[in-house]
Amino acid sequence: MSAARKRFSEREIVTVLLQQGALVYCPRCEEIIKLGDKLEREHFHELALGGADDPSNCFYSHAECHAIATNGTKATTAGSSKHKIAKVKRIAAGGRKRKGRKIQSRGFATHRPRPWR
Ligand SMILES: [Zn+2]
Repeated sequence: MSAARKRFSEREIVTVLLQQGALVYCPRCEEIIKLGDKLEREHFHELALGGADDPSNCFYSHAECHAIATNGTKATTAGSSKHKIAKVKRIAAGGRKRKGRKIQSRGFATHRPRPWR
């Protein structure tokens, strides 16, 4: 009788492949992924936008690189997945719509003679 074999998780499969010396690049930063690097599965076509959770639509990147791609940098979300998803949802919902009342500007100061002159 042969010993029962455990079914490996995707993390375990990646670990074994990296142990074997597989050279895999992070498509975000273009560095070689090393054994022990924290990885995350990403989708070429975002799940939130109807992309398939299927190997043909997936790639692995560093968790850190993925976080930047998803959320943008500290300074801006421009170009991030979050930004793209929000834009697609906004357009699907009928375009740009103001949520509340338009903020009333105080306008530019009109010239008033200063009392101390
Ligand atoms: Zn990376």
